[in-house]
Amino acid sequence: MSARLLDGNAVAQQIREELRPAVAAFTARAGRPPGLGLVLVGDDPASQVYVRNKLRSGEDVGFHVDLHRLPATTTLAELRALVARLNGSAAHDGILVQSPLPEAMGPDAERVIFDDIAPGKDVDGFSPTNVGLLVQNRATLQACTPAGVMELLDRAGISVAGQRAVVIGRSDIVGKPMAMMLMHRHATVTICHSRTRDLAAVAATADILVAAIGRPWMVTPAFVKPGATVIDVGMNRLADAAAIEAAYPEGSPRRAQFAKAGSLLVGDVHPAVAEVAGALTPVPGGVGPLTIAMLMRNTLRAAESR
Ligand code: NAP
Repeated sequence: MSARLLDGNAVAQQIREELRPAVAAFTARAGRPPGLGLVLVGDDPASQVYVRNKLRSGEDVGFHVDLHRLPATTTLAELRALVARLNGSAAHDGILVQSPLPEAMGPDAERVIFDDIAPGKDVDGFSPTNVGLLVQNRATLQACTPAGVMELLDRAGISVAGQRAVVIGRSDIVGKPMAMMLMHRHATVTICHSRTRDLAAVAATADILVAAIGRPWMVTPAFVKPGATVIDVGMNRLADAAAIEAAYPEGSPRRAQFAKAGSLLVGDVHPAVAEVAGALTPVPGGVGPLTIAMLMRNTLRAAESR
């Protein structure tokens, strides 16, 4: 059996096309486009790529997007002052502060900043108010990555109600909101983490398995019930030549990518899972593009709600 691949790029493109006329209608009505303020502190290379993609996507659907780049030496007080300014700005409907923040800002910096962002402009869906509303199943602004997963399942015609779902990972940004969204859609949900006993056996009970772990290729076929839908949220850099050669046959484009870059962007799910699963999201090109599409949808929703 070979799993059906769920194409996140195609779905994200479809969502952007749907947003475009709604953005144009908002702009005509309000006399200005929806505004998104992106904040990038420091020079983490992955964050630079993510922020650039968010900027391009926002401009592509017709938003006004501005990027506030701050040096790694920025203090928490300075960042809070910028967030306060964006909170009060009439031109900004959405605010996104890219994580991670530099370690020098202190261990609580992200929490402080997510607490500061006005809930109505919190397009990441991370503020305590929006998390609380999600728990009560009445959030307008929901965490983008899990919201993207729900969109992908819906548009692929994969039913959720009554299904057994297992989410591996309990982070605030993926695992917890993912479990909540699946439960609201009437799945029976189990949340697993690093202390879960018999993880593979628990995972193998799932009709829908979501891996949000951050460990390259940890989910092997032993974790997967034949025919299950497997959603791979992980984004990891793998530099293990032997593992890559074992996973991909000679002549495979993935081997060529590895040879060129010295590492490969891989998910939490091993490629061999494609032989067991019924449906699977690829990495790259699965959940990632949906996260950005949901950010665009949240920004429009935030603009319309103001
Ligand atoms: P995180 O905050 O590090 O959380 C990872 C979770 O996995 C934790 O709950 C942890 O358990 C659990 N875990 C770690 N090792 C485990 C093990 N050996 N067995 C079982 N559970 C284990 O990570 P995150 O922010 O949720 O991100 C997860 C992955 O998704 C990363 O690869 C990240 O890059 C990717 N991601 C992708 C997107 C996208 O747009 N595609 C967006 C966000 C994140 P404990 O709680 O017990 O420590």
